[in-house]
Amino acid sequence: MRFLVTGGAGFIGSHLVELLISEGHSVTVVDNLSTGRVEFLKGVMGNPRLRFIEADLLRPEVAREAARGVDAVFHLAANPEVRIGQQSPESIYRQNVEMTYNVLESMRVAGVRALAFASSSTVYGDAKVIPTPEDYGPLYPISVYGGSKLASEGLISGYAFTFDWTAVSFRLANVVGPRSTHGVIYDFINKLRRNSSSLEVLGDGTQSKSYVHVRDTVKAMYQLLMKAIDKGVRYEAFNVGTPDRVSVLEIAHIVAEAMGLTPQVYTTGGVDGGRGWKGDVKVMQLSVDKAMSWGWAPEVKSSRDVVRRAVAEALSEFKA
Ligand code: NAD
Repeated sequence: MRFLVTGGAGFIGSHLVELLISEGHSVTVVDNLSTGRVEFLKGVMGNPRLRFIEADLLRPEVAREAARGVDAVFHLAANPEVRIGQQSPESIYRQNVEMTYNVLESMRVAGVRALAFASSSTVYGDAKVIPTPEDYGPLYPISVYGGSKLASEGLISGYAFTFDWTAVSFRLANVVGPRSTHGVIYDFINKLRRNSSSLEVLGDGTQSKSYVHVRDTVKAMYQLLMKAIDKGVRYEAFNVGTPDRVSVLEIAHIVAEAMGLTPQVYTTGGVDGGRGWKGDVKVMQLSVDKAMSWGWAPEVKSSRDVVRRAVAEALSEFKA
């Protein structure tokens, strides 16, 4: 098949592109390299089945050109920083909602009828049901980022039913692994490299969330989109995570231990009852029963193991 991967030079996107190429597909990547890096694609660059376009998808003509002749789109390009929504809601709105609209319109014009979208666990806000299933509601996101993902899901569902597409939203837990350029593991390693004697943890440290390895994540996105196309479904949402969670304090200790350090770990206390920042969900654990009933299962099965592996991978990347 011919796929378009928006944000394909990013952390998750580059792993997805590698998977699609290894499965024999042709891939067009569009990425403006705002957070993505060309070197993330070095393993597949030069492959005749890969076309790389460095361009900004906020320009509708870029999205239109990229969608021409493809069979399905993986839409990952976004501003992935939940935290910046408080300072720059406009950036989140434009990069996440407006860009999704550009991608949908380009698909409609080009006649592309299958889409997978990188949504987020943040659409659930402070869910009252843990583990949270896909049919939990009402959905009240507590961050601008979460709101932007829910708005995008709404648009995608609307386009899928109106134009008879197959579309799938993946509500991702915290994704970690090689090439990650943001998130808690990345932050802790950088903080400890600057100062190995103390480690600041945002919030009260009890925030507890589910982690999933990036390779398991891209397998879920690929396998479940293909199944959805096979089944001819209109629209589905899938949670992607591991069936447990780990606290941020525990992650701080895992990172310190892996670096051979014994820093003084202290918490900032946080805002709004111990959140790391305004809009930080304190407890996130997704039910992954639906994805598993469709045949996907994570190879790295617990959040702790995912974090341990990602820390080891990040440290070897820093050394390289
Ligand atoms: P990332 O920043 O590495 O990937 C985003 C990519 O989009 C980057 O390569 C960036 O350069 C590109 N991009 C941004 N704006 C663009 C624009 N205007 N035009 C073209 N390209 C643009 O982040 P990631 O962690 O790989 O996230 C990928 C997707 O998954 C995002 O949609 C993110 O919201 C979502 N997601 C990530 C996580 C996670 O834990 N990493 C969790 C839930 C959802």
